[in-house]
Amino acid sequence: MAKLFRCMLQIVDIERKMSTSSSHFSIANQLLYVNDKIKAASVKRPQHLQYSTPRLVAVSKTKGTDLIIEAYDAGQRHFGENYVVELHEKANDIEIQDRCQDIQWHFIGHLQRNKISKILDVPNLFVIETVDSEKLAKALSDSWGKLKKSGHLQVMAQINTSGETSKSGCSPSEAVQLVKYIKEHCPHLQLLGLMTIGSFDHDINSGPNPDFQALFDIRKEVCQSLNILEKDLELSMGMSADFEHAIEMGSTNVRVGSTIFGERRGHQEKGTASDQSVQTDQNRETNDVQSSLNKIESLALT
Ligand SMILES: *Cc1c(COP(=O)(O)O)cnc(C)c1O
Repeated sequence: MAKLFRCMLQIVDIERKMSTSSSHFSIANQLLYVNDKIKAASVKRPQHLQYSTPRLVAVSKTKGTDLIIEAYDAGQRHFGENYVVELHEKANDIEIQDRCQDIQWHFIGHLQRNKISKILDVPNLFVIETVDSEKLAKALSDSWGKLKKSGHLQVMAQINTSGETSKSGCSPSEAVQLVKYIKEHCPHLQLLGLMTIGSFDHDINSGPNPDFQALFDIRKEVCQSLNILEKDLELSMGMSADFEHAIEMGSTNVRVGSTIFGERRGHQEKGTASDQSVQTDQNRETNDVQSSLNKIESLALT
Protein backbone atom coordinates (compact mmCIF):
# COMPACT_ATOMS: atom_id res chain seq x y z
CA MET A 1 0.00 0.00 0.00
CA ALA A 2 2.76 2.41 0.95
CA LYS A 3 4.53 1.50 -2.25
CA LEU A 4 1.46 2.22 -4.29
CA PHE A 5 1.06 5.57 -2.57
CA ARG A 6 4.67 6.54 -3.26
CA CYS A 7 4.15 5.45 -6.80
CA MET A 8 1.15 7.78 -7.17
CA LEU A 9 3.06 10.68 -5.65
CA GLN A 10 5.76 10.18 -8.21
CA ILE A 11 3.27 10.19 -11.05
CA VAL A 12 1.91 13.52 -9.80
CA ASP A 13 5.46 14.82 -9.66
CA ILE A 14 6.15 13.69 -13.20
CA GLU A 15 3.04 15.35 -14.53
CA ARG A 16 4.04 18.59 -12.86
CA LYS A 17 7.49 18.44 -14.38
CA MET A 18 6.16 17.66 -17.81
CA SER A 19 3.77 20.57 -17.78
CA THR A 20 6.56 22.95 -16.81
CA SER A 21 9.18 21.51 -19.12
CA SER A 22 7.47 20.71 -22.39
CA SER A 23 4.06 22.22 -22.90
CA HIS A 24 5.06 25.59 -21.43
CA PHE A 25 8.43 25.85 -23.11
CA SER A 26 8.69 29.28 -24.63
CA ILE A 27 11.42 31.77 -25.34
CA ALA A 28 9.70 34.21 -23.00
CA ASN A 29 9.89 31.66 -20.17
CA GLN A 30 13.51 30.85 -20.92
CA LEU A 31 14.34 34.56 -20.83
CA LEU A 32 12.62 34.90 -17.47
CA TYR A 33 14.58 31.91 -16.23
CA VAL A 34 17.94 33.26 -17.46
CA ASN A 35 17.25 36.76 -16.17
CA ASP A 36 16.36 35.34 -12.75
CA LYS A 37 19.63 33.41 -12.69
CA ILE A 38 21.52 36.55 -13.72
CA LYS A 39 19.93 38.50 -10.87
CA ALA A 40 20.73 35.79 -8.35
CA ALA A 41 24.34 35.53 -9.53
CA SER A 42 24.71 39.33 -9.47
CA VAL A 43 23.99 39.57 -5.77
CA LYS A 44 26.53 36.83 -5.09
CA ARG A 45 29.33 38.97 -6.56
CA PRO A 46 31.84 40.53 -4.20
CA GLN A 47 30.69 43.99 -3.15
CA HIS A 48 33.25 45.84 -5.28
CA LEU A 49 31.93 44.17 -8.44
CA GLN A 50 28.32 45.12 -7.84
CA TYR A 51 28.50 48.45 -9.67
CA SER A 52 26.71 47.24 -12.80
CA THR A 53 23.86 45.06 -13.96
CA PRO A 54 25.18 42.37 -16.31
CA ARG A 55 23.87 42.62 -19.85
CA LEU A 56 22.27 39.57 -21.40
CA VAL A 57 23.12 38.98 -25.05
CA ALA A 58 20.75 36.45 -26.61
CA VAL A 59 22.86 34.51 -29.11
CA SER A 60 20.51 33.86 -32.01
CA LYS A 61 22.94 32.30 -34.51
CA THR A 62 21.33 29.65 -36.73
CA LYS A 63 17.90 30.64 -35.37
CA GLY A 64 15.19 32.18 -37.53
CA THR A 65 13.98 35.76 -37.41
CA ASP A 66 10.63 34.60 -35.99
CA LEU A 67 12.41 33.47 -32.83
CA ILE A 68 14.33 36.74 -32.60
CA ILE A 69 11.08 38.67 -32.83
CA GLU A 70 9.56 36.41 -30.17
CA ALA A 71 12.46 37.20 -27.84
CA TYR A 72 12.26 40.90 -28.68
CA ASP A 73 8.56 40.95 -27.87
CA ALA A 74 9.42 39.39 -24.52
CA GLY A 75 11.66 42.36 -23.78
CA GLN A 76 15.08 41.19 -24.99
CA ARG A 77 17.08 43.88 -26.81
CA HIS A 78 20.68 42.63 -27.22
CA PHE A 79 21.31 39.83 -29.71
CA GLY A 80 24.53 38.11 -30.79
CA GLU A 81 25.54 36.61 -34.13
CA ASN A 82 28.83 35.07 -35.23
CA TYR A 83 28.64 35.12 -39.05
CA VAL A 84 28.77 38.44 -40.87
CA VAL A 85 26.51 37.37 -43.74
CA GLU A 86 23.92 35.90 -41.37
CA LEU A 87 23.97 38.99 -39.16
CA HIS A 88 23.68 41.30 -42.17
CA GLU A 89 20.72 39.35 -43.49
CA LYS A 90 18.86 39.24 -40.19
CA ALA A 91 19.51 42.87 -39.32
CA ASN A 92 18.19 43.95 -42.73
CA ASP A 93 15.17 41.66 -42.61
CA ILE A 94 12.05 43.73 -43.26
CA GLU A 95 10.11 42.28 -40.35
CA ILE A 96 13.00 42.74 -37.91
CA GLN A 97 13.40 46.33 -39.08
CA ASP A 98 9.72 46.93 -38.64
CA ARG A 99 9.11 45.17 -35.33
CA CYS A 100 12.49 45.39 -33.56
CA GLN A 101 13.45 49.02 -34.00
CA ASP A 102 15.44 49.16 -30.78
CA ILE A 103 17.37 45.92 -31.35
CA GLN A 104 21.09 45.99 -30.48
CA TRP A 105 23.36 43.63 -32.42
CA HIS A 106 26.60 42.17 -31.07
CA PHE A 107 29.02 40.58 -33.50
CA ILE A 108 30.73 37.72 -31.65
CA GLY A 109 32.42 35.73 -34.43
CA HIS A 110 35.78 35.94 -36.11
CA LEU A 111 35.94 39.01 -38.35
CA GLN A 112 37.94 39.01 -41.57
CA ARG A 113 39.03 42.32 -42.97
CA ASN A 114 37.34 41.67 -46.31
CA LYS A 115 33.98 41.64 -44.43
CA ILE A 116 34.41 45.05 -42.83
CA SER A 117 32.23 47.01 -45.24
CA LYS A 118 29.46 44.44 -44.86
CA ILE A 119 29.51 44.48 -41.08
CA LEU A 120 29.55 48.27 -40.94
CA ASP A 121 26.43 48.17 -43.10
CA VAL A 122 24.52 46.37 -40.31
CA PRO A 123 21.80 48.63 -38.90
CA ASN A 124 21.71 48.89 -35.10
CA LEU A 125 25.17 47.39 -34.69
CA PHE A 126 25.93 47.84 -30.98
CA VAL A 127 29.40 46.35 -30.68
CA ILE A 128 31.95 44.17 -32.43
CA GLU A 129 33.19 42.00 -29.57
CA THR A 130 35.97 40.28 -31.46
CA VAL A 131 38.68 42.77 -32.39
CA ASP A 132 41.87 40.76 -31.99
CA SER A 133 44.62 42.62 -33.85
CA GLU A 134 45.93 46.12 -34.45
CA LYS A 135 45.42 45.68 -38.20
CA LEU A 136 41.75 44.84 -37.77
CA ALA A 137 41.24 47.69 -35.28
CA LYS A 138 42.88 50.19 -37.63
CA ALA A 139 40.89 48.99 -40.63
CA LEU A 140 37.63 49.24 -38.68
CA SER A 141 38.45 52.71 -37.42
CA ASP A 142 39.44 53.98 -40.88
CA SER A 143 36.33 52.51 -42.50
CA TRP A 144 34.03 53.96 -39.84
CA GLY A 145 35.69 57.35 -40.33
CA LYS A 146 35.22 57.20 -44.10
CA LEU A 147 31.55 56.36 -43.69
CA LYS A 148 31.20 59.56 -41.65
CA LYS A 149 28.79 57.86 -39.29
CA SER A 150 27.97 59.72 -36.13
CA GLY A 151 29.69 58.76 -32.90
CA HIS A 152 32.15 55.94 -32.41
CA LEU A 153 32.07 52.30 -33.37
CA GLN A 154 31.99 50.29 -30.14
CA VAL A 155 34.38 47.36 -29.96
CA MET A 156 35.80 44.87 -27.51
CA ALA A 157 39.25 43.36 -27.59
CA GLN A 158 39.09 39.58 -27.83
CA ILE A 159 41.69 37.77 -25.77
CA ASN A 160 42.53 34.12 -26.27
CA THR A 161 42.79 33.21 -22.60
CA SER A 162 42.79 29.45 -23.12
CA GLY A 163 45.61 29.49 -25.67
CA GLU A 164 43.72 27.02 -27.87
CA THR A 165 44.72 27.49 -31.49
CA SER A 166 41.13 26.95 -32.59
CA LYS A 167 40.11 30.16 -30.80
CA SER A 168 40.64 33.66 -32.10
CA GLY A 169 41.89 36.47 -29.95
CA CYS A 170 45.19 38.10 -29.19
CA SER A 171 47.38 36.40 -26.62
CA PRO A 172 47.14 37.62 -23.01
CA SER A 173 50.65 39.07 -23.26
CA GLU A 174 49.56 41.29 -26.18
CA ALA A 175 46.44 42.62 -24.48
CA VAL A 176 47.93 45.83 -23.08
CA GLN A 177 49.51 46.66 -26.42
CA LEU A 178 46.27 46.06 -28.36
CA VAL A 179 44.20 48.19 -25.99
CA LYS A 180 46.83 50.93 -26.06
CA TYR A 181 46.82 50.85 -29.85
CA ILE A 182 43.03 51.15 -30.02
CA LYS A 183 43.08 54.06 -27.57
CA GLU A 184 45.89 55.93 -29.32
CA HIS A 185 45.55 55.12 -33.00
CA CYS A 186 41.88 54.39 -33.63
CA PRO A 187 40.01 57.67 -33.19
CA HIS A 188 36.72 56.28 -34.51
CA LEU A 189 36.60 53.33 -32.12
CA GLN A 190 35.37 53.25 -28.57
CA LEU A 191 36.69 50.38 -26.51
CA LEU A 192 33.87 48.91 -24.45
CA GLY A 193 35.70 46.01 -22.86
CA LEU A 194 37.53 42.71 -23.12
CA MET A 195 36.03 39.46 -24.36
CA THR A 196 36.99 35.80 -24.10
CA ILE A 197 35.40 32.59 -25.28
CA GLY A 198 37.47 30.26 -23.13
CA SER A 199 37.58 26.51 -23.12
CA PHE A 200 34.24 24.73 -22.96
CA ASP A 201 35.06 21.81 -20.78
CA HIS A 202 35.86 23.45 -17.47
CA ASP A 203 34.26 21.71 -14.51
CA ILE A 204 33.16 24.37 -12.01
CA ASN A 205 33.42 21.84 -9.17
CA SER A 206 37.16 21.88 -9.64
CA GLY A 207 37.38 25.60 -8.88
CA PRO A 208 36.98 28.96 -10.63
CA ASN A 209 37.19 28.92 -14.42
CA PRO A 210 40.81 29.82 -15.30
CA ASP A 211 39.68 31.67 -18.44
CA PHE A 212 37.42 33.96 -16.46
CA GLN A 213 40.13 34.49 -13.86
CA ALA A 214 42.62 35.24 -16.63
CA LEU A 215 40.40 37.85 -18.28
CA PHE A 216 39.76 39.45 -14.90
CA ASP A 217 43.51 39.65 -14.25
CA ILE A 218 44.22 40.96 -17.75
CA ARG A 219 41.76 43.79 -17.18
CA LYS A 220 43.56 44.68 -13.98
CA GLU A 221 46.87 44.80 -15.79
CA VAL A 222 45.48 46.78 -18.75
CA CYS A 223 43.81 49.30 -16.46
CA GLN A 224 46.90 49.81 -14.33
CA SER A 225 49.19 50.19 -17.34
CA LEU A 226 46.92 52.57 -19.23
CA ASN A 227 45.31 54.43 -16.38
CA ILE A 228 41.76 53.25 -17.05
CA LEU A 229 39.14 52.66 -14.35
CA GLU A 230 38.26 48.97 -14.10
CA LYS A 231 34.59 49.75 -14.13
CA ASP A 232 35.04 51.52 -17.46
CA LEU A 233 36.24 48.32 -19.11
CA GLU A 234 33.62 45.60 -19.42
CA LEU A 235 34.21 41.85 -19.34
CA SER A 236 32.34 39.73 -21.88
CA MET A 237 32.50 36.14 -20.67
CA GLY A 238 30.08 33.31 -19.91
CA MET A 239 27.69 31.29 -22.08
CA SER A 240 24.78 28.90 -21.43
CA ALA A 241 26.87 26.44 -19.46
CA ASP A 242 28.58 28.93 -17.19
CA PHE A 243 27.07 32.41 -17.30
CA GLU A 244 26.17 32.45 -13.60
CA HIS A 245 29.69 31.51 -12.63
CA ALA A 246 31.06 34.15 -15.05
CA ILE A 247 28.90 36.83 -13.44
CA GLU A 248 30.09 35.88 -9.98
CA MET A 249 33.61 36.35 -11.33
CA GLY A 250 32.89 39.81 -12.68
CA SER A 251 31.34 39.36 -16.13
CA THR A 252 29.29 42.35 -17.28
CA ASN A 253 28.15 40.83 -20.57
CA VAL A 254 27.03 37.21 -20.91
CA ARG A 255 26.33 35.57 -24.27
CA VAL A 256 23.61 32.95 -23.92
CA GLY A 257 22.25 30.99 -26.87
CA SER A 258 20.95 27.47 -26.43
CA THR A 259 19.37 28.00 -23.02
CA ILE A 260 17.16 30.72 -24.52
CA PHE A 261 16.47 29.38 -28.00
CA GLY A 262 16.97 25.64 -27.56
CA GLU A 263 19.76 23.47 -28.88
CA ARG A 264 21.24 24.34 -32.23
CA ARG A 265 21.53 21.79 -34.99
CA GLY A 266 23.14 21.91 -38.38
CA HIS A 267 26.18 22.83 -40.32
CA GLN A 268 26.87 26.33 -39.08
CA GLU A 269 28.37 25.17 -35.84
CA LYS A 270 31.93 24.51 -36.83
CA GLY A 271 34.43 26.48 -34.89
CA THR A 272 31.95 27.71 -32.30
CA ALA A 273 30.55 26.33 -29.09
CA SER A 274 30.58 22.56 -28.73
CA ASP A 275 26.90 22.23 -28.06
CA GLN A 276 27.15 18.64 -26.98
CA SER A 277 28.86 19.78 -23.82
CA VAL A 278 26.07 22.14 -22.88
CA GLN A 279 23.66 20.54 -20.44
CA THR A 280 20.52 22.66 -20.52
CA ASP A 281 17.91 22.58 -17.84
CA GLN A 282 15.42 21.10 -20.28
CA ASN A 283 17.79 18.16 -20.67
CA ARG A 284 18.10 17.93 -16.96
CA GLU A 285 14.34 17.87 -16.48
CA THR A 286 13.89 15.24 -19.14
CA ASN A 287 16.49 13.18 -17.31
CA ASP A 288 14.62 13.69 -14.03
CA VAL A 289 11.41 12.49 -15.59
CA GLN A 290 13.18 9.47 -17.04
CA SER A 291 14.73 8.55 -13.71
CA SER A 292 11.34 8.84 -11.97
CA LEU A 293 9.87 6.52 -14.58
CA ASN A 294 12.68 4.07 -13.97
CA LYS A 295 12.00 4.19 -10.24
CA ILE A 296 8.30 3.49 -10.72
CA GLU A 297 9.12 0.61 -12.96
CA SER A 298 11.40 -0.90 -10.37
CA LEU A 299 8.81 -0.35 -7.62
CA ALA A 300 6.15 -2.05 -9.70
CA LEU A 301 8.42 -5.04 -10.16
CA THR A 302 9.07 -5.54 -6.44
C1 LIG B 1 27.50 30.32 -29.80
C2 LIG B 1 28.23 31.27 -28.94
C3 LIG B 1 27.75 31.59 -27.66
C4 LIG B 1 26.50 30.98 -27.05
O1 LIG B 1 26.67 29.63 -26.76
P1 LIG B 1 25.57 28.80 -25.92
O2 LIG B 1 26.34 27.70 -25.34
O3 LIG B 1 24.54 28.35 -26.90
O4 LIG B 1 25.00 29.71 -24.91
C5 LIG B 1 28.46 32.52 -26.93
N1 LIG B 1 29.58 33.10 -27.41
C6 LIG B 1 30.07 32.83 -28.63
C7 LIG B 1 31.29 33.52 -29.10
C8 LIG B 1 29.42 31.91 -29.43
O5 LIG B 1 29.91 31.63 -30.66
